[in-house]
Amino acid sequence: MGEDYVGYEAVGVKKLRSGGIVFEMNSQEAAEILQSTDVKDLFAENFGGGVEVKPRSYPVVVDHVPTSFRITLKTQELEYQVIEEHNNLPGGSVVDARWIKPPSRRSSTQTTASLALHLNSAQAANQVIRNGLLIANKRVMARKMLFEPRRCFKCHNTGGSHLAVACPQDQDICGKCSGKHRTSDCVVSESSKMKCPACSKQGHAAGDVTCLVFQQQRRLYLSSNPLNYYRFYLLAEDEASWERILTENHLFLKPRNLDKAP
Ligand SMILES: [Zn+2]
Ligand SMILES: [Zn+2]
Ligand SMILES: [Zn+2]
Repeated sequence: MGEDYVGYEAVGVKKLRSGGIVFEMNSQEAAEILQSTDVKDLFAENFGGGVEVKPRSYPVVVDHVPTSFRITLKTQELEYQVIEEHNNLPGGSVVDARWIKPPSRRSSTQTTASLALHLNSAQAANQVIRNGLLIANKRVMARKMLFEPRRCFKCHNTGGSHLAVACPQDQDICGKCSGKHRTSDCVVSESSKMKCPACSKQGHAAGDVTCLVFQQQRRLYLSSNPLNYYRFYLLAEDEASWERILTENHLFLKPRNLDKAP
């Protein structure tokens, strides 16, 4: 990079199993510069294109949000602003909001649902976890999103040891019927005809909330991640963010992607 950027440094680099790379910058200003258009372009050039620079976000789960709350691509910026204003959050704090379960899978009587809200700083996320949120004229509670295991879509392991790019298996196993093909190529659609590759039982697909092997792997993963025992996102300078959650009950809530209608 040119001399205009002297003093802005990456102090840490982490390669994710997903193939992404996380750069930790030495200041907020440096992080903002990394996301500015000309620096992004410079990055894309040096990495041979196909590079997307995304700021890190801090997700929280907001429970019991009225389903009357609407987010559309067209109005989302405005919705985010309203949330920021009603909750005394700095402008630009809300970077994403989406229903955890697709609205199409709701029951007809469901009036509230869980929302994944992504904030642009640990401070903003912690403020929401501490104070709750006023959304769609309702005051609701929020919790830090757990660090969930991700499933390898090639062999369907959910132990969190690897993702598909690093899968040790040679062949794709189908998540729906356990056959030797990609899940997307499967012709089985009825759940009664499915065969889970994780537990070999009939009646559900891989990663299903009712799968005992999945439940076991998930609990093991959740309970072995020390960050899942802190109520807030940890901030070195803010002692109040070091509050520990003493019981394990919060680890046994429903997986975030498999929220079922009440
Ligand atoms: Zn695998
Ligand atoms: Zn199949
Ligand atoms: Zn299973």
